[in-house]
Amino acid sequence: MTSQFFLTKYAEPIEEIFVSEENEQEVEETGIHSAVRTILSEIGEIPERDGLLKTPDRVARMFSEITAGYHMDPIDLINGALFEVDYDEMVLVKDIEFYSMCEHHMLPFYGRAHVAYIPRGKVIGLSKIPRMVEMYARRLQVQERMTVQIADLLQEVLNPQGVAVVVEGAHMCAMMRGVKKAEANMTTRKMLGAFKEDQVLRSEFLSHISKPRFED
Ligand code: ZN
Repeated sequence: MTSQFFLTKYAEPIEEIFVSEENEQEVEETGIHSAVRTILSEIGEIPERDGLLKTPDRVARMFSEITAGYHMDPIDLINGALFEVDYDEMVLVKDIEFYSMCEHHMLPFYGRAHVAYIPRGKVIGLSKIPRMVEMYARRLQVQERMTVQIADLLQEVLNPQGVAVVVEGAHMCAMMRGVKKAEANMTTRKMLGAFKEDQVLRSEFLSHISKPRFED
């Protein structure tokens, strides 16, 4: 089987969606502020000490950033970037860096997502796929669900012949609590349509994501 691939690297975070610079302007007092002060006291800290004085505010701002995905609309995100094309080979975007928060411990898990589909008359602008990943990563998550959500959204938007999503994540909640590193790493995958039915195609996808990407 011969195929052509679009291999694109998306290692850089998508700056325009999220404000990453910490500005010193304080946000309005929220429930997060008081909750953080409570946690600080409960663990034996003094919330009023110098180093911690602005911590509730920083945490509140941080949470609005790392959970921004809850407020993103998939339709806005796609924003008409669907194109009719006569191309029916695999489209693959690999090594999409993501950062998420495990919903069980509220600690980060992060890694890379690899997304492929086989068009059925329609393709999506390549930058949109990393944005889809971001939208689902920027919220409290479990890796398994995030993997399925990415696949389902592509399926819904494009109705392609097949969708494949593999997510490799390292989980801080396991790493920080002394679990061996190997056990803190997890790979999840969701295959739909042709990728589910055609083992050759699936193997081809899996072998492509295990290779280093093309040189720049
Ligand atoms: Zn966890």
